[in-house]
Amino acid sequence: MSIIQANLQAVREHIALAAQQAARMPDAVRLVAVSKTCPAQAIIEAARAGQLAFGENYEQEALRKMRQIQEAAPELHLEWHFIGPVQANKTRGIAAHFDWVHSVDRERIARRLAEQRPDDLPPLNICLQVNISGEDSKSGVEEAALFDLARVAASFPRLRLRGLMAIPEPQEDPEKQRAAFHRLRSMYERLREAGYDLDTLSMGMTEDMDAAIAEGATIVRIGTAIFGARN
Ligand SMILES: *Cc1c(COP(=O)(O)O)cnc(C)c1O
Repeated sequence: MSIIQANLQAVREHIALAAQQAARMPDAVRLVAVSKTCPAQAIIEAARAGQLAFGENYEQEALRKMRQIQEAAPELHLEWHFIGPVQANKTRGIAAHFDWVHSVDRERIARRLAEQRPDDLPPLNICLQVNISGEDSKSGVEEAALFDLARVAASFPRLRLRGLMAIPEPQEDPEKQRAAFHRLRSMYERLREAGYDLDTLSMGMTEDMDAAIAEGATIVRIGTAIFGARN
């Protein structure tokens, strides 16, 4: 078994155990393998071990690897998740080549993705990225503006609003990790109570997946634990 395959198996077991400890079904948590900076060959290897959902942060890099995979392994049908900051000049490529975008954080981006989603594809699945760690607010909608953004995003027929995503600032203390994820979970519940048909909480990375799963993550986005450290 290759390192990637062994890592994948270990991560799957880890997720199942964390789910069990949270009294959740193991298949309630989906794994998106974050392959940014990894070569196409590593993705093919993971796919051959049964991992079909991949997360990428950079449009150009992702499209290049999609082409390489299509050449080298045309039999693979992968599900692509865009998880990085979305620049307005990249929305066309993202709308045409991805199945999900986790990082929609403003109306302009939602509108462009909706307008540019090709007609022959199903609606693009999106999550709204929320800034839950306050001060260094590079990405993510502020909580106060979340409902307005949700209303607009849900109004586009070419988008399907699935839920929320966040990247809390790194914390070593599991209780603090949980507190951040708990805030996202509460916003998600409030949106559902307001009538939004959501099913996705995208939260948890290599260092905080246990806390995220305990707080209800339905997708964890894991890179390092599968592909090794990035340089
Ligand atoms: C890189 C990245 C991940 C994966 O992080 P790891 O710590 O390597 O598991 C998850 N989500 C986002 C948005 C990322 O940019």
